[in-house]
Amino acid sequence: MMKRRHSCGDTLGPGSEKLDAKHIKMRLGYREKVFHKNCVAVGLAAAFLEPLEASAIFLVEAACNMLGELFQRNSEMLERLEKKYNASFIGRWNSVVDFIKLHYYLSGRTDSDFWIENTRPETAPESLREYLDFWQYYPPSRFDLSSSLEPFVRESYEFILYGMGYGNYQYDNPARLPHLEYARENFARIDRMRREVPTQLVTNRRLLDQLKDFRFQSI
Ligand SMILES: Cc1cc2nc3c(=O)[nH]c(=O)nc-3n(C[C@H](O)[C@H](O)[C@H](O)COP(=O)(O)OP(=O)(O)OC[C@H]3O[C@@H](n4cnc5c(N)ncnc54)[C@H](O)[C@@H]3O)c2cc1C
Repeated sequence: MMKRRHSCGDTLGPGSEKLDAKHIKMRLGYREKVFHKNCVAVGLAAAFLEPLEASAIFLVEAACNMLGELFQRNSEMLERLEKKYNASFIGRWNSVVDFIKLHYYLSGRTDSDFWIENTRPETAPESLREYLDFWQYYPPSRFDLSSSLEPFVRESYEFILYGMGYGNYQYDNPARLPHLEYARENFARIDRMRREVPTQLVTNRRLLDQLKDFRFQSI
């Protein structure tokens, strides 16, 4: 299991656990049948999963595009269109569930029942567990997320997996890594930037203090 990296409490400092938090209750889920006869639910009427990766507007657009493109040509097709549309959106929402769950699942946190629960394998969808089994030894590739309708593309998964230090890739054949030198140069450049940029920025604390004293200044 990976180590916990950072939490809100680390940023707020000692005593943060005594602070009040505003708890917002969320009813999560999606309708399995969003298209029924001549009625289609779009947006929050269709689903609400989680605000973490902001997939709502993308899926509203996707719904409008699919409806616009496949809009009924004749009444015989309506039933088939309904079936196709519902299946397509169940697939997309399940992909969102996989992707959101990935963040929690790989957190490695054990500091509360919430996190312990969320890192237990039986709480992860089977589809996600299958991906992760594979990605432990192979990086995500076009063979995994092949659908052009995926709300989250391969790079989205890479950001989370590599950010969380997941994967144990062993490359014994350098011929399979033709851009290794280029990659090394870029990693070195990014590493230099990572060390240099913070020295040129003001701290969050200083910004917040300035905001408290002077509020937002007009430009
Ligand atoms: C702070 C915040 C940040 C967000 N950021 C993102 C983001 O970055 N990316 C992203 O994808 N999503 C984001 N979302 C989520 C996204 O904005 C919503 O999921 C999306 O706007 C939902 O669209 P909707 O049309 O289904 O519902 P809404 O936008 O809520 O529209 C419903 C409309 O119905 C009206 N209405 C309600 N009841 C009645 C009634 N009885 N009679 C008549 N009218 C009624 C409401 O006034 C409203 O205008 C964010 C949401 C919030 C709150």
